[in-house]
Amino acid sequence: MRSDGVEARPIVQLDGHAGFAEVFFTSVRVPVSQTIGDANDGWTVALSTLAFERDAPARPAARYERDLRELIAVARARDVWDDPVVRDAIGGLAARVETYRLHTLRTLTRLQRGESIGDDASVTKLLWSELERDIYEYGMSLLGPYAGALSDTPAAASFDTRYWYARAATIYAGTSEIQNNIVAERILGLPR
Ligand SMILES: Cc1cc2nc3c(=O)[nH]c(=O)nc-3n(C[C@H](O)[C@H](O)[C@H](O)COP(=O)(O)OP(=O)(O)OC[C@H]3O[C@@H](n4cnc5c(N)ncnc54)[C@H](O)[C@@H]3O)c2cc1C
Repeated sequence: MRSDGVEARPIVQLDGHAGFAEVFFTSVRVPVSQTIGDANDGWTVALSTLAFERDAPARPAARYERDLRELIAVARARDVWDDPVVRDAIGGLAARVETYRLHTLRTLTRLQRGESIGDDASVTKLLWSELERDIYEYGMSLLGPYAGALSDTPAAASFDTRYWYARAATIYAGTSEIQNNIVAERILGLPR
């Protein structure tokens, strides 16, 4: 990024932050000593990098266990924790968090054995990103107007912001449609 000809132009979002940038490469020369892998084989490197981003070590299950605890705190604070409909919904999410936890243990066991994960990273990504989206979506439905401006607990106060960021989970690291395509073609062997 410090080479001559590399220019990052920040993209300012509606909230005033600049989380993204346009990066321009103008006649940039990369020394051979900084090559990763073989010349003209960058796509393989990019694919490996994406697999790391999608896979379990990047998304520990503890993160979703924490989110679930916060969801329960919100249900208690809103005095709906004893409502069977709420318990049913949160129970369903808890089952998915546990499924994801067991899935990550299987992945870590495979990595420990020296196996590569490959296309299974897409299954992992689908599991965590859709779980994250659904936890926060349900949190918002529990909170209604109490998410954000009317919030009365620290968990509620941060739910609004995290709900919006969770919307991006099924986009970054490759969208759910792309992950489903990979699962269909490369794991299930379905036609393109
Ligand atoms: C919060 C956030 C952080 C990000 N961080 C980074 C980062 O750090 N580094 C980085 O390089 N990128 C980053 N990205 C970019 C991200 O990887 C892309 O936005 C994402 O891969 C989708 O690509 P796209 O935006 O070009 O959408 P497009 O590819 O234009 O897709 C648009 C829509 O069409 C669908 N679609 C596209 N192709 C197909 C297909 N073949 N079959 C079915 N449906 C299809 C997609 O699912 C999507 O719904 C980030 C994005 C977000 C939102």
